[in-house]
Amino acid sequence: MLPPSPIIDELLAAAYGRAESHHEGVVADYIPILAEADPEAFGLCIVDVQGGLHELGDTRTRFSIQSISKAFVYALVCQEFGHEKVLDVVGVNNTGLAFNSVVAIELNDGHPMNPMVNAGAIATTALMPGDTPGQKWDAILAGLSAFTGRTLDVDDVVYRSEAATNTRNHAIARLLESYGRITHDPLDVVDVYTRQCAISVDARDLAVMAATLADGGVNPVTGTRVVSAEVARDTLAVLAANGLYERSGEWLFEIGLPGKSGVAGGLVTIAPGKAGIGSYSPRLDSAGNSVRGQIATAYLSRSLGLNVFASA
Ligand code: GLN
Repeated sequence: MLPPSPIIDELLAAAYGRAESHHEGVVADYIPILAEADPEAFGLCIVDVQGGLHELGDTRTRFSIQSISKAFVYALVCQEFGHEKVLDVVGVNNTGLAFNSVVAIELNDGHPMNPMVNAGAIATTALMPGDTPGQKWDAILAGLSAFTGRTLDVDDVVYRSEAATNTRNHAIARLLESYGRITHDPLDVVDVYTRQCAISVDARDLAVMAATLADGGVNPVTGTRVVSAEVARDTLAVLAANGLYERSGEWLFEIGLPGKSGVAGGLVTIAPGKAGIGSYSPRLDSAGNSVRGQIATAYLSRSLGLNVFASA
């Protein structure tokens, strides 16, 4: 159980203040437009499984969802095809590698080891229902919109900036194709993946998305079931293993909750059965995870008693 609302607000303010005093980390620039983000922007939001909202700072500032989309697209694909079939194509082990690693494919005979790194995520996007890239895209946008409870859109400037510099993801997709892991045109798949990463959200959206997974797949604000409780559970297990790339072990050790980061500075954290946390702060650590997001979340996990490994 979470404490009463005024206490949550107090702890949120304390988490925010603690994280705000940190200025280390750098804004991503390998996607050129991301370098223009305000490094001081910071929003922090909690949505509980009753739909109660607590927010502070720049929670309505829009940014691109980037890798956080991987978690929700994975959930949609599992919902469509089931855990077993998806596992045949995309593995669930931690890669211990950077998000854009090509080695993540080579390690296991082309079985991309985790849907939370680009190789596995691109293979997951290829699995989305639909015969054409347009149909896959429509299914992704509708699915992620159901997770947030509002109609989402793409930030076209971010999409074009990444699409123009996306050679590495093209290489990953070609390699996946060579192993028979994707059977559609690899460039089309990367295009859909790039659009999915450019979907525009704010910290509040992320908290609602996280709360939907925390609530067994039901969006607690709209009341709509987006995925089954089993799919929500399986998605969280995958996040726990690899949500913060090569820092996933340290994250789990400090915070004890499934989470997922994106290079634009977003971070989602899920306290199963309790709440979702969404944050936005663009300064990143060397693995591409928001520095302030991690600090604020660690504080909230401790002070709200959210660590799933704690017995009391
Ligand atoms: N769109 C980005 C990429 O594929 C997402 C990476 C991330 O958020 N870590 O490189």
